Amino acid sequence: MIYVNGEYFEKENAKISVFDHGFLYGDGIFEGIRVYNNLVFRLNDHLLRLYESAKTIALEIPISIEEMERAIIETVRLNKLPSCYIRLVVSRGYGDMGVDPRKCSKATVVIIVTQINIYPPELYETGLAVAIASTRRMRDDMLSPRIKSLNYLSNVMTKIEMNRQGLADGIMLNAAGYVTEASVANVFIVKKGELITPPKSVGLLEGITRNTIIELARDAGISVKEELFTQFDLYNADECFLTGTASEVIPVVSIDGRILGENKAGPLSRRLLEMFRSRTIWDGTKII
Ligand code: PMP
Repeated sequence: MIYVNGEYFEKENAKISVFDHGFLYGDGIFEGIRVYNNLVFRLNDHLLRLYESAKTIALEIPISIEEMERAIIETVRLNKLPSCYIRLVVSRGYGDMGVDPRKCSKATVVIIVTQINIYPPELYETGLAVAIASTRRMRDDMLSPRIKSLNYLSNVMTKIEMNRQGLADGIMLNAAGYVTEASVANVFIVKKGELITPPKSVGLLEGITRNTIIELARDAGISVKEELFTQFDLYNADECFLTGTASEVIPVVSIDGRILGENKAGPLSRRLLEMFRSRTIWDGTKII
């Protein structure tokens, strides 16, 4: 069952207008949320990010954050999937041609609950081969990648480029050459026992998984720095991993053909994946 503007529809009947500005102009925002065994992981963080994205693009979400939370829980409950993926989309809504958002009187809210697409388990041991993408990530002062918007073309372009090379993912730099993030995941490196991830200001989506890993690491006494770094630092890292709702914590073992460490999941990547998975067992909003 799919939620569309307060009503539930079967998959075949869940529809929005071709005049929706989300379709016509990519004018909208979304969230990807995961449910582990009837617990929605970090739902509040996802909702806060959604409402902040909305505020940034001056999009008025027609329901309150509490109503949204209830709608999400109800949609998951109706779908009877104890572990699943939630795609929440809010677009500018139905309106005439022309980018002016005043043409759209009410935002469209869609909640889709599906099975989750994940990497095969062995990849968490063998790790991913990635490359630096030729598409550059927008700087935070251009069109902030902190907005989780319906404009994912740089991410799609990165994916197309990596598919052609037979690689799992690509890492995007910003225009100044600093590492930002992968196509749908944040990036961490390990150097001399320290964890380093780019700061939000470099131009990236502030991942909920990224923030969870920073928290878990600090609680465990591991040093974490949010610091600018370049391609050089990636090639010479002791370990590297990507974080995201779908991928959790997945090791990277090769970047542009440069092998990292022992060409398999490094000790800190493994430890953090374990800590992250232990957290998902109890930390979440219950589906009743
Ligand atoms: N960066 C981008 C561009 C993404 O689309 C995602 C996936 N939402 C992430 C990073 C990881 O964020 P999260 O941990 O919240 O899934």
